[in-house]
Amino acid sequence: MSFEELKLTRQFLNAIEEAGYENPTPIQAMAIPPLRSGQDVIGIAQTGTGKTAAFLLPLLQTLKYAQGDAPRALILAPTKELVLQIHHEAMQFASYTDLRCIPLYGGVGPKAQAQAVKTGVDLLIATPGRFIEIYHMGIFEPKKIKHLVLDEADRMMDMGFMPQLRQIQEIIPSKRQNVLFSATFPHRVERLADEFLLWPTRIEASPESTPVETVEQFRVSLANQRTKLSFIEWLIRERLMEKRLLIFARKKDDAENVARYLQRTFEFEVRSIHSNKGQNARINAMDDFRSGAVQVLVSTDIASRGIDVPETEMVINFSVPRDPHDYVHRIGRTGRAFRHGEAITLEDPSERYARERIESLTGQLMKEITPPSTLKEVVTPKEEKQLQAREIDREMKKRDPLYQGAFHERKKKSKSSSKKSSKKSSGKKR
Ligand code: AMP
Repeated sequence: MSFEELKLTRQFLNAIEEAGYENPTPIQAMAIPPLRSGQDVIGIAQTGTGKTAAFLLPLLQTLKYAQGDAPRALILAPTKELVLQIHHEAMQFASYTDLRCIPLYGGVGPKAQAQAVKTGVDLLIATPGRFIEIYHMGIFEPKKIKHLVLDEADRMMDMGFMPQLRQIQEIIPSKRQNVLFSATFPHRVERLADEFLLWPTRIEASPESTPVETVEQFRVSLANQRTKLSFIEWLIRERLMEKRLLIFARKKDDAENVARYLQRTFEFEVRSIHSNKGQNARINAMDDFRSGAVQVLVSTDIASRGIDVPETEMVINFSVPRDPHDYVHRIGRTGRAFRHGEAITLEDPSERYARERIESLTGQLMKEITPPSTLKEVVTPKEEKQLQAREIDREMKKRDPLYQGAFHERKKKSKSSSKKSSKKSSGKKR
């Protein structure tokens, strides 16, 4: 199928050609016709499938040209990064029209954004909180909003945006077209869809939660974080010296440590993004990663939304995410839009269970690889060993609520034998 067959007008066909897209992706071929005809649509599609263009193209074509001052469409997304990413694509597709698209997001003062809205807008792309904040300033009339898109709905639910979404539902007209895109479709997204959409057409890019087929998945067992760092160093020297890499860590501190270690070890530029970094630092890191100035980006899960760098060759999971859906999102950052990508997950003894949960969600096994014999194995520090034992206990308890963990038992014993000393050591830990 071609874009012409999807009945897109010349202005958009030109912009698509300039973006270098030859043919529509499956989700675009499926979503564009019902969206053009004004239907409500639920799209289940991961990042990397071309979902953004799937909802943007028909929406922009419906809006057609600049009209009045008030917004006629609203796209909501969970994070600033994603808002900017969607805005970037919208500007690209609207380049042969006079449509005005404005991004609204937090982390910076609302004044400049409010001013931009005042001068007239057709499409708002916003995080829910900032949209409400700007609405309360009373500078635009929401009654003209006839199209609502909820992007990455599963993440919006995870981040607790339901109250804001309900508030927005009250503000905008009830007669409107609704679109909901989500990588996964758990119960809470289903409930959201029930509240917001009317007789939606449901389309799915690939079976739910199956990571994009172009990504090859590997795993390697390593004793501890220090060994994981040595492994990454080896992997880069061995075969990734010139390659764009995205590394995920579960915790901010870990992301920071990995970035620092690699920056010390290699000449190329390494950057980290997580919720402690200022918005500007995050945006700059992302821009520099996109341009290639930064070769390795280390990120936590929240900060990763909206990272869209098709050249990413490999995703390395420094730690296994506890929520298997996060894994799907993480590896969706490589192998985007038909390109081949690889993901490798580094697993310490306590992370086996989380990895098994991922494999049962995706229905795919990660191929196990053995670390090189030359890899320096460092003894696991006591504190890390305890954390691992605690994690294993947590997992075992989840499987069997009556399970008496080895870690807790030890803790109990030491508490009764010497209250003072255990107090001291737990105080030290934090
Ligand atoms: P998304 O799934 O919207 O995050 O998009 C993933 C990537 O695919 C982005 O880099 C897009 O620019 C790219 N892309 C979207 N549609 C197409 C297409 N039809 N052909 C080639 N690349 C595309």
